[in-house]
Amino acid sequence: MSNKKINVIKMSNNENPFGPSPLALRAAKCSVENINVYPDSEGCILKSALANFYGLDISQITVGNGSENILDMIAKAFLNYKNNAVISQYCFTTILLIIHSMGTKVKIAPALNYGHNINNIIDSIDSQTKVIFIVNPNNPTGTYITHNEMLELLNSIKSDILVVLDEAYYEYVGEKNYPDSLSLLSSYQNLIIVRTFSKIYGMAGLRIGYAMSNPAIAKEINNIRLPFNVNSIAMNAACEALNDKEHVERSYFLNKQGVHQLTIGLEHMGLEVIPSVGNFVCVNIKRDSLDLCQRLFERGIMVKHLLPYNLPFHLRITSGTYEQNQQFLNEFHNLFLEEKMF
Ligand SMILES: *Cc1c(COP(=O)(O)O)cnc(C)c1O
Repeated sequence: MSNKKINVIKMSNNENPFGPSPLALRAAKCSVENINVYPDSEGCILKSALANFYGLDISQITVGNGSENILDMIAKAFLNYKNNAVISQYCFTTILLIIHSMGTKVKIAPALNYGHNINNIIDSIDSQTKVIFIVNPNNPTGTYITHNEMLELLNSIKSDILVVLDEAYYEYVGEKNYPDSLSLLSSYQNLIIVRTFSKIYGMAGLRIGYAMSNPAIAKEINNIRLPFNVNSIAMNAACEALNDKEHVERSYFLNKQGVHQLTIGLEHMGLEVIPSVGNFVCVNIKRDSLDLCQRLFERGIMVKHLLPYNLPFHLRITSGTYEQNQQFLNEFHNLFLEEKMF
């Protein structure tokens, strides 16, 4: 058997190319020794670490098997076949899947310049609306809504409509007008903030995410939560990850450079890149992106086409290491040149 590794560059799932924190990795390795024991069904260690980290009360935190699991629990707790949920066009498709799984109607608010548009979202609300999902920054477009837009939304709706703010890329955003969502929790009892260890923390494979809300909402989610939804390795590693500020800062800094590198490189080829505050870029390649994805894969690079979003000419590329980004730009440029010669 050959032990030669196939070197595929994976730029398709918005993972952290620099890996997890060494502290988290060490904690995970230690935890493996104890896998004969069930995890703490209340997630106390991680909930107190998060409460401490953010200055919240432990009763405001919910932990989940990835933030997907959190979003799914929110749907299970609050959606049914009689009410509806509002999302924006181009919103992360997993949310659509989760809403549909409850037999709940979805109202889609048209996007503006690929981003969430608050007025359109407000216009989509009706008397049956129970939950509004906001993905900020949005995946796959990389666009974001501002603090003031968030306030406008919260001030325009009845307080029995929940606003779920999916902030999977929160730690990657440096923009000053990006929402300080945590500061809104005390004034808006209907706000749920969802974050994850899958992205900047580099722990996507462990499956760990969390929600921050008022205690009453946390209690309602907890009522439908399965006791052992989060594994012990993930919880112990996540606690340590929170302590490694240096890892987050380094990842943030390198990502800013990487996104810039990809944006400039693609713009030099005459392509339009949607300005992104995440760890990925979304670009209009002016040709069938499914075909281009396949041809890039043959050259060892995985990126995402956006057919499920009805964006057949767009690609989403996760920012990799400097070398990975360069290799992507080279291969992409080569394919581009080949095609133009025909
Ligand atoms: C990646 C991603 C998530 C998923 O996170 P997990 O915590 O790995 O389940 C959630 N929301 C958005 C918008 C994402 O891009």
